[in-house]
Parts: sequence; C-alpha cells; structure tokens
Amino acid sequence: MTNRVIAIDGPSGSGKSTVSRAIGQKLGFLHVDSGALYRIVTWQGLLHGVDPNDAAAVAAFAGRLAVEMTAVDGAVRFSVGGVEPGDAIRTAEINAAVSPVSKVPEVRAKVTAWLRDLRRLGDLVVEGRDIGSVVFPDSPARFYLDAAPEERARRRHLEEQAKGLPKQDREAVMASLLNRDRIDSSRAVAPLKVAEGALVIDSTRMPIEEVVATVISHLPEEWREP
Ligand code: C5P
Repeated sequence: MTNRVIAIDGPSGSGKSTVSRAIGQKLGFLHVDSGALYRIVTWQGLLHGVDPNDAAAVAAFAGRLAVEMTAVDGAVRFSVGGVEPGDAIRTAEINAAVSPVSKVPEVRAKVTAWLRDLRRLGDLVVEGRDIGSVVFPDSPARFYLDAAPEERARRRHLEEQAKGLPKQDREAVMASLLNRDRIDSSRAVAPLKVAEGALVIDSTRMPIEEVVATVISHLPEEWREP
C-alpha cells in the first residue's frame, strides 16, 4: 500500500505551515513544506547567477539541481551539497524571485516528481499551492486554508520579526505577499486555486487549534489516530 498524504494548500500566511506541522506531530505524518523546494531552486539559481525571469535558463538550471531529502524529527529536511538553507530562503530577495521561478513548467515538473517520491519515507502532510489539485489529486484528505489579506500580512510580519529577518514594515510585507498571490493564482501551470473536492477553511478568526481540529475531523476515520 502506498503511504497516505494529507494535502494543505492556500496562499501565504493562511496558516498552512503551523497547521500542517501540528497535524504531522499529532498523527505521526511527516511534514513537507513544498514552498521550501521552490525557494531552494530560486536560492540556488540566484547563487549561480541565473536570472529568475529567464524561463529557459531557470528550466535548464532546475534540471541539473540535486536536493537531498531526509526525514528528521517528524519533518522532511532539504539540503544542497550537504548544506541546509535555513533562513537564506526566506529573504525579501527570494520572496520577490520565487513566484517567477515557480511559474516555469520544468521547475514544477521537477518539484512535483520530488514530492511524489517522498511517499517512500512515510505518511506525509504536504503544504503548498497545488498539492490537492495537481501533486496528489487522489488523496481523500485535501484542504484549502484561506484568511483575509490583512490578517495574512499580520502573521507573516510577526513571523519575520520573530526570525529576526531584516525589518520590513507591514505594508511592504503585504505588498510582497499580494504580488506573489497574483502571480501564483494567474500562472498557466498549476495555479493556486481550490482543488475540486477540497475542504475550504477560512482561518481569519479561528485559533490554530480549531483549524487543526477541523482538519482532523474531516480526515478518513482510520487516519485520525496516530
Ligand atoms: O509557501 P511559500 O510561501 O514558502 O511558497 C513560496 C512560493 O513557492 C509561492 O509563492 C509559490 O510561488 C511557490 N509554490 C508553488 N507551489 C507550491 C508551493 C509553493 O508554486 N506547491
């Protein structure tokens, strides 16, 4: 039997990461941050002088890139040449370049293949933009988290402050986030959208525990116990 997958999609700041991590811990599913893979392709591309808006150069670069993936402490960790990126993939520069890179079909095909292959490591809870619509459309557990843009910007701003990333005010965070939403929702391949059959949860006014409980209550019954 192939391992089980819970798909959690939604825009930036919708609560995907916190919710997916909590569900992974509760149920013993490995947490997978698919956005980190798109960020890693972007980070490595920039380090190697690839122009993020040159689709052909990005596609060729992604074709050569190798990423190591291992399960550590309940999550899948990524590294390149033995180096984990840490917050190097969370900078304003990467935020600005990641959506153009993620539009490139060859990049999407590569990340999609990596994600599908991760099932060999165990049951997964995968967060992203197209997990329920494209990567694992057959999963019986597909969710779409959303929240009002102001709330999403507030959360991202707090997160960036907590990480000690260079200061950007809330308006700048909101502008960067809305710009990514716009590119992510309008791209030709695998746009951010609610997958058919996915359960939509608006987390604007919901405490995180309630979102987690809602997701768990909609899982197939035999998945709900660790
Ligand atoms: O989730 P995160 O904000 O880290 O994702 C960064 C970017 O990666 C998104 O804005 C989007 O362009 C891309 N992405 C994607 N498909 C996914 C996950 C992320 O296109 N499944």
